[in-house]
Amino acid sequence: MIAIDIHNVSVAYKKTPVLWSIDAELASGAFIGIVGPNGSGKSTLIKACTGLIPLMSGEIKFYGKNIHEVRHEIAYLPQKETIDWDFPIQVLDVVLMGTYPKLGIFKRPSKKEINLAKECLHKVGMLEFMKRQISELSGGQQQRVFLARALAQEAKIYFLDEPFSAVDAVTEETIIQVIQDLKKEGKTIVVVH
Ligand code: ADP
Ligand code: MG
Repeated sequence: MIAIDIHNVSVAYKKTPVLWSIDAELASGAFIGIVGPNGSGKSTLIKACTGLIPLMSGEIKFYGKNIHEVRHEIAYLPQKETIDWDFPIQVLDVVLMGTYPKLGIFKRPSKKEINLAKECLHKVGMLEFMKRQISELSGGQQQRVFLARALAQEAKIYFLDEPFSAVDAVTEETIIQVIQDLKKEGKTIVVVH
């Protein structure tokens, strides 16, 4: 079964095209790597898939559906360099953000979501930091918190943008373990490396 069907996709920023006529069929349950030099459009492709930037042409389907029908099934770990780490927010609240797509806009997280968020923090070895401000963490710890946020979404498809760039050994091992667990659960994983 095809999880992600990318058909004839082109993307441009203002008028400068970055991706031309991309075609790809990514199998459900597969672990897919996207590799290429800096500036080649890897992050752009992921952002196009997650609906963060519009397509100039073409279409992307997830199990045959459009992004707006399945947005909550798609988790995204942004490239570390693109996150504002000075934003005043606690670790636990970052992870709770992962539960919002399924909660809907008017509901507040309940005990169930809070427990899930804590479980995800435990998986990445960051539970003891749940009351910290994200600005007060090391780069690797920040990366693990955002990974926990993606896990809390309990999605079907995971997009991870350079999860291993500039992280310490503990974080690298944690991310590898998390990816292996996701794979065992049958999730589709796309990693820019
Ligand atoms: P990669 O992730 O492979 O390093 P990107 O997808 O980030 O590459 O960038 C691809 C190209 O698009 C680069 O030339 C980059 O400068 C340009 N680009 C990326 N983001 C923007 C943006 N928000 N506005 C304009 N140009 C951008
Ligand atoms: Mg990139």
